[in-house]
Amino acid sequence: MPRLFGTNGVRGVVNRELTPEMVLRLSASAGHLLGREIAVGRDGRTSSEMLAKAAIGGLLSVGCRVHDMGLLPTPTLQYAVKHLGLDGGLMITASHNPPEFNGVKVILKDGVEAPRGLEEEIEGLYFSGGPPLKPWGEVGSVGGFNPLDLYVEGLLRHVDVEAIRRRRFRVALDPGNGVSALTAPTLARRLGCEVYTINTDIDGAFPGRGSEPRPDNLGGLSRLMEAVDAEVGVAFDGDGDRALFVDEGGVVHWGDRSFALVVRDYLSSHPGEAVATPVSSSKMIEEVAREAGGCVLWTRVGSIVVSRTMLKEGISLGGEENGGIFYGPHQPVRDGGMALALILDLLAREGRPLSELMGELPRYVQRKERVPCPNELKPRVLEALRGCVEAERVETIDGVKLWFSDGSWILMRPSGTEPIFRIYAEAEAEGRLNRMVEEHRRLLEALVEEVKSS
Ligand code: MG
Repeated sequence: MPRLFGTNGVRGVVNRELTPEMVLRLSASAGHLLGREIAVGRDGRTSSEMLAKAAIGGLLSVGCRVHDMGLLPTPTLQYAVKHLGLDGGLMITASHNPPEFNGVKVILKDGVEAPRGLEEEIEGLYFSGGPPLKPWGEVGSVGGFNPLDLYVEGLLRHVDVEAIRRRRFRVALDPGNGVSALTAPTLARRLGCEVYTINTDIDGAFPGRGSEPRPDNLGGLSRLMEAVDAEVGVAFDGDGDRALFVDEGGVVHWGDRSFALVVRDYLSSHPGEAVATPVSSSKMIEEVAREAGGCVLWTRVGSIVVSRTMLKEGISLGGEENGGIFYGPHQPVRDGGMALALILDLLAREGRPLSELMGELPRYVQRKERVPCPNELKPRVLEALRGCVEAERVETIDGVKLWFSDGSWILMRPSGTEPIFRIYAEAEAEGRLNRMVEEHRRLLEALVEEVKSS
């Protein structure tokens, strides 16, 4: 059977790979399986309103009662579904993908994205022509609900609001023209921060700095921080589930470093617990966790895998190198607002600047690369790759991860959302890192060409 779902819901280029007709049938199939009370939300993409209307149409056709929540971050919809006791939710978003993309995330009543089994059931119904439609008298109805305040209140319950307020942090926020513009400034103000912002106009073309925050596109935020003498900078991705932090010196830190601070802080009051993180994260996480008396459970890459692993193994904290922090006591899904609240909470308790805390973490150099590869060739390229790599230790939890005797590692895995292989690598020194990445990038490019022409 053909697949609709990738590692993070359904994604595609709008009106080419993902049309309103598809979303309508997909939503009808999901609604048929999820239950009656379904929330629908959307990010700020140009095509999101079109697809949200199609989703609502599909849900109504199978008799659902739709709670139209409009524009909001993905974690806000997830929180609302669980908190309001709904049967599920559909989020129209392509997260950090370029503007021409969009997608659908299916949320279960527990607020977490649907597991593989349910995705397959939805795909089964979809490819068999869709579920039976209700007769005219039994089609569903639509009501509106705005969960933004409910969500911010929910976040505040997990941090020491008074202690944070006393610090009167100067915070700079960069939602990157995405929907966290609707929640992050409110949250920071409720925490008593002096708030400065950039790129807060919600705009589906993402004109500010693109929808994916990366160290190389946050120059605007760093300049704003310098101008206003901010202590913390935070950049969110397009749908607000990920956050990257910038210290008071303007240095942007990858997500595994901010996650490591949260891990250290969390384990200091929860000794012996495990935290979950994908194999793409720095080995520094494991070192920090061990030193704090805990351990790491490594997972495949993908936020759904981390969430479901947390639920299955009873783990309360998860994180990703891309800036996703999953805080179980709030909800076991990545949540940029929760990440902001947790970092301010630990800064208030530590009473030291972010750069100093980051400076205490083990430091390795990292590099990420991408090698184009058509989706349909990915399985054969991966198989060829497995057959020809050599290392001290080879792990296949996800893609191929090679560990070398000097402690450096490189991970090569097919992206679940784009026609590329992603390369992640880490080493003690720049020269070693670059040689390792170049060598394996050339290998991967050669394998893609070889499979293409075979
Ligand atoms: Mg996202």
